[in-house]
Amino acid sequence: MRKPTTIECLYLDFDGFFASVEQQARPKLRGKPVGIIPFEGTEHTCVIACSKEAKARGCSNIMTYAEAKAKCPDIILQPQSPDLYRRAHHALIAEISTVLPIEAVKSIDEITCRLDTGQQHDPEGLAVRIKDRIARYVGQYITCSIGFAPNRQLAKIAGKQNKPDGVTIWHPNDIPHVLNDVPFAEVGGIGHRMERRLRAAGITSMSELLACSPKQLRKIWRSVTGERLWYALHGYAIQAQKSQRGMFGHARVLPPELRQRDHVKPVARMLVIKAARRMRKAGYYASRLWLGCEYRSDQRDHGYSDSLSLPIVSDDHACLTGLNTLWQRLCQRLSSHTRIVRVGITLGELSNANERQLDFLLNDDADRRRWEQVSHAVDHLNAEYSKSLVTLGPWQPPAGGHLGGKISYTRIPKAEDFW
Ligand SMILES: [Mg+2]
Repeated sequence: MRKPTTIECLYLDFDGFFASVEQQARPKLRGKPVGIIPFEGTEHTCVIACSKEAKARGCSNIMTYAEAKAKCPDIILQPQSPDLYRRAHHALIAEISTVLPIEAVKSIDEITCRLDTGQQHDPEGLAVRIKDRIARYVGQYITCSIGFAPNRQLAKIAGKQNKPDGVTIWHPNDIPHVLNDVPFAEVGGIGHRMERRLRAAGITSMSELLACSPKQLRKIWRSVTGERLWYALHGYAIQAQKSQRGMFGHARVLPPELRQRDHVKPVARMLVIKAARRMRKAGYYASRLWLGCEYRSDQRDHGYSDSLSLPIVSDDHACLTGLNTLWQRLCQRLSSHTRIVRVGITLGELSNANERQLDFLLNDDADRRRWEQVSHAVDHLNAEYSKSLVTLGPWQPPAGGHLGGKISYTRIPKAEDFW
């Protein structure tokens, strides 16, 4: 395996992305502790992202409103603006691309780049050029932290060491001892479960982990992933394997006036239509539909989840028929007085067009083909008008908006998610 002799990768992560975009767009929020909430009108909500001023006061992303208020009584709550974040993302990507090519967009606020020889010799100068470009052409309230290292995984960890607005450069000579004081939580691939497993194996710090052999990590991870992590942490040129597309799903926290069971069904219908629309666009078919919800009863929160096998489908009619069955089953379990706080649907067990053709041959269904043609015609019309002009059944998005276009770090919404 190749071991780079110089820095080869850059990892850039925007600082408090959603909150700083809000501060850039709304001058009254600048310099203030800001918490982004899913929508206005209820205090039974959580802060999903916060500004650096709020972080400095002890708030963190994903905290209940009550907790955030206790830590920072003057926190300003700002309802999310997903379409604004989407547009900021594209503007930032365009500006960074004028400085160097982007290798991969990892999430709405993270990108990676490979460095050419000139950039390898002057990472400080490169970081200054990127930050200047963003400040000048997008706005000075949106800052980023940049890590440079021999591989992407190390560059990502480096980028977390000097937040906000930092630059951290780890040369091959610094590896691996520079990692000794890094907490497990900052290492991609070590989640809570893996941390418990490591502790059970007597490994409680990065220095102990780094002293293990690749085979030992493979054993603890119970897969080659542990061994790959060892090589990444020791500065080898190794990259995580690409994961396959697994599902298309949407979930929505319901505004208080829509929490009664019968009000939730139309929202679930719209979520199914949105997910199916995305799935068709990406060229996939699903053979399972999940329906999940969170509800309150006896002063406690409960979860409900159910799923249904589908023929290999992608059209709205088939997906909505599946939802009807799942909804009937839900109604047998939850009374009409149940207060449903959140509903979500997922289309999964995906297959691509080739497998679909096989299904056509084995199990042809003329009706389904007609419904597929209807869905494609509807998609085409909606794309033409850039809105949900035609839908199967009613289309009345709940107050608060953002149905299916909600805030997400891992998926950059498309303009059509907001139709
Ligand atoms: Mg970030």
